[in-house]
Amino acid sequence: MARLLGTPAAPGIAVGPAWRYRPRGASGVPVVAVGSRGEAELRIRRAADAAAAQLQVLAAQLRAADRPGDAEILEAQALMAIDPAIVDVAVRLARGGMAPVEAVLAAAETSAQVLAELDDPLLAARAGDVRDVAVRVARAMSGAQLELPDKPSIVVAEDLPPSLLAEIPAGLLLGLALSSGTPTAHVAILARSLGIPAVVAVPDLLDSVRGAAVVAIDGENGHVEVNPAPADLQALADRQAVRGAHARAAAALRGRPAATLDGQRVALLANIRSPDDATRALDAGAEGVGLFRTEYLFLRRHSAPSEAEQTAEYRRAMEAFGPSRPVVIRLADIGGDKSIPYLVHADEPNPFLGVRAIRLGHDSRELLLTQLRAIWRAAGQAGVTPHAMAAMVATIADVELLCGLRDEARAAVVATGSACPERMITGAMIEVPSAAIMAPELARLVDFFSIGTNDLTQYVLAADRGNPSLAGLQDALHPAVLRTIAAVIAGADAAGIPVAACGELAGDPAGAIVLVGLGVDELSAEAGSLDGMRAALMGVSGAQLRELAARALAATDAETVRAYANEVLGAGL
Ligand code: PEP
Ligand code: MG
Repeated sequence: MARLLGTPAAPGIAVGPAWRYRPRGASGVPVVAVGSRGEAELRIRRAADAAAAQLQVLAAQLRAADRPGDAEILEAQALMAIDPAIVDVAVRLARGGMAPVEAVLAAAETSAQVLAELDDPLLAARAGDVRDVAVRVARAMSGAQLELPDKPSIVVAEDLPPSLLAEIPAGLLLGLALSSGTPTAHVAILARSLGIPAVVAVPDLLDSVRGAAVVAIDGENGHVEVNPAPADLQALADRQAVRGAHARAAAALRGRPAATLDGQRVALLANIRSPDDATRALDAGAEGVGLFRTEYLFLRRHSAPSEAEQTAEYRRAMEAFGPSRPVVIRLADIGGDKSIPYLVHADEPNPFLGVRAIRLGHDSRELLLTQLRAIWRAAGQAGVTPHAMAAMVATIADVELLCGLRDEARAAVVATGSACPERMITGAMIEVPSAAIMAPELARLVDFFSIGTNDLTQYVLAADRGNPSLAGLQDALHPAVLRTIAAVIAGADAAGIPVAACGELAGDPAGAIVLVGLGVDELSAEAGSLDGMRAALMGVSGAQLRELAARALAATDAETVRAYANEVLGAGL
């Protein structure tokens, strides 16, 4: 028996026989014999088209199953399959005498390497997509069959192509354990959306799972047990039963407004990346959108979306939520860990401390103006009051810049004679310590604050949020972060503006109750987290939360705060 500890990527417990996925790289896909070089080119182009068509079929199935977010991943892969950066390069390599399968894999590898080297973990994770697509094209050329598990299994691999995950028939995929990967890789995103427990970055996984092993995974704490003893299996089954009961009880509260036992209301909103996420958010009981991460509209493209395209996307989101549920549109948070290749700024040695988000308003004014015009237009068309905010606000001048761009964009829309609302509810994300320190002054200039706890933690503790070796420092429950949040709330209260929190801490039940205890008015998180947050809040009183917050502020480390919060949660269950 071996007990391993990886990174939690999708919650839930699963036990079953291991099915090892072994990728067929350059050596695994049969070499195709070809005649002339012209024939090689034809084969490559036909195989690329065939792979793109397969991916479109899979994407259509996901759309039909009401999983548009997942479908998008495969649609993007379909585009990669026919991307000239891969196909034309492969054709050139084949013309130079390389075997067609190898040419495709080599061309894709070059593209993948470029992505893998980017600082941005999201884009770097796309390297896996490119390799996945290349193997699919190579398979289409060689006629090799895709191997899939034949009984319900825990899939164990170094990495798993997202399209393969989508192809494993429902019921045969019990869980996923990967020796590499990150929670932001597409395969992890898909696992979460399928409700499949997953653990990634598990050290020694492949050496430990040999032959006919049984594997148990706990996607909540990152535990992977290989050939667990009967007593461990029983303990897992007990844990699974308890969590299942909690999840069912929490889901039963859906539709009820979140409030503490003594009636303190807390608005629960959803974080979205695209209007396609609206249905899930509404089904989960979201009272609006607290964070629309619009930079995702700029990813997987060769140029920025036009004003008309953006208007259509924002309008779709606004119409899905209607006039009484706000959709807070965050201006593209480009830079830092989300560099967009066609908008890359000068090579920055420290992108997280570089030209990011609202700072683009100086050199890339038109980018933010276009977004703001699209937001005004969308709101005019949808008949709602728009809500917008900027990330990375550090100074009063940043907010002045935001408000100036907002007003300039409105004047431009009004000048075209289009319908345009009177005002835009305008907010500042508080995720930089200087903004927290200046909160009393900033609060007089905006309509609301939204605390980005992910970046606030990174900047307060000076720990790169993408660096796994600093994982221990990246805990937003650290009292230094909580004391900063308390100062932000005091500044907002003095000016009478509401405070929301939209980082990962808000979606963690322990974090949610600490934040509300500190005085946060609204919480915004992934749709899948809303049940747990609601249940946590409905089991506690305002007095308990205030006492918890006071103890948390007096603590000296994050572990102690978590223990306090878990005590309160345990008492409320
Ligand atoms: C945050 O920093 O907490 C936040 C919500 O923004 P993002 O994670 O997109 O940087
Ligand atoms: Mg942030």
